[in-house]
Amino acid sequence: MRILTAEFIRSCAGPEQFLNGDLPEVAFIGRSNVGKSTLINSLLQRKGLAKVSRTPGKTRLVNFFQVTTDDPGLARFVAVDLPGYGYAKAPKALQAQWEPLIGQYLDGSEQLRAVVVLAECRVLSELDQQAIAWLLAGGRSPIVVATKVDKLKMGERVRALRHLREGLGLAEGGDFIPYSSVTGEGRDRLWAAVKERM
Ligand code: GDP
Repeated sequence: MRILTAEFIRSCAGPEQFLNGDLPEVAFIGRSNVGKSTLINSLLQRKGLAKVSRTPGKTRLVNFFQVTTDDPGLARFVAVDLPGYGYAKAPKALQAQWEPLIGQYLDGSEQLRAVVVLAECRVLSELDQQAIAWLLAGGRSPIVVATKVDKLKMGERVRALRHLREGLGLAEGGDFIPYSSVTGEGRDRLWAAVKERM
């Protein structure tokens, strides 16, 4: 699939600024530093679109991007970059301010078709378990992406990915996609999973 255009629409600090349009939305969530900005840029084939953070935990806003592709099954949609959660060093007051934004967006959006949860391939996190359980309880079956799989050695790959998938409470054969923004692995599978939810 080729991306024809990918444009930043706006950043939102509160729900009153969320989009109210009619395009389907695809949201991306994950812990700070999981590789979310890099994945969005690699998916959308635009280098600087989502800002790769020099300081983890920097993204506190909900960022909307409008995308058009050459694939009729996913011709126009909005990619939604949600704030990274769980940055331990962030001041509590700031965390309290931006983490509810994620919930407000996920609960409130009527156009939301797919939620992509990113989890780092070697890190099993309680926050990710909670995020996935919360989505499932709300009737939203997430697409879970294991990021940075280029860091796994061949010999540890199968075991590491099974450990993560099982730890996140996901059944075999579900939408659990090993991904690397470095090698491009997983890009086609992720697009296919997103398309299925349109
Ligand atoms: P975010 O905070 O979730 O948006 O994470 P970033 O996209 O800013 O990435 C955090 C760090 O992980 C950066 O140093 C990236 O270069 C690195 N990174 C992101 N994706 C990958 C990947 O697929 N493979 C490797 N090896 N590193 C990655």
